[in-house]
Amino acid sequence: MSQEKPTGASSLPIPGVEEDNGELMYVRCSLCGEWLDSKPGRVNWISHGVCPVCYVKEVARIELFLEERRKAKM
Ligand SMILES: [Zn+2]
Repeated sequence: MSQEKPTGASSLPIPGVEEDNGELMYVRCSLCGEWLDSKPGRVNWISHGVCPVCYVKEVARIELFLEERRKAKM
């Protein structure tokens, strides 16, 4: 017989992280969804950032976009 208990309150999908281990908030990449870091803050708050991989991609994409706009104007 295996019966799983409902885990209740925590909505953070991080395994092995207890809720009562201090005030930490998590930083998540807003583009690929990867967990980047945890930092002092408020428990159960999630901060959004951009990981280095996505940052490089985004900058390249923006530069391409700007260049195409520049071309379109000419
Ligand atoms: Zn990312």
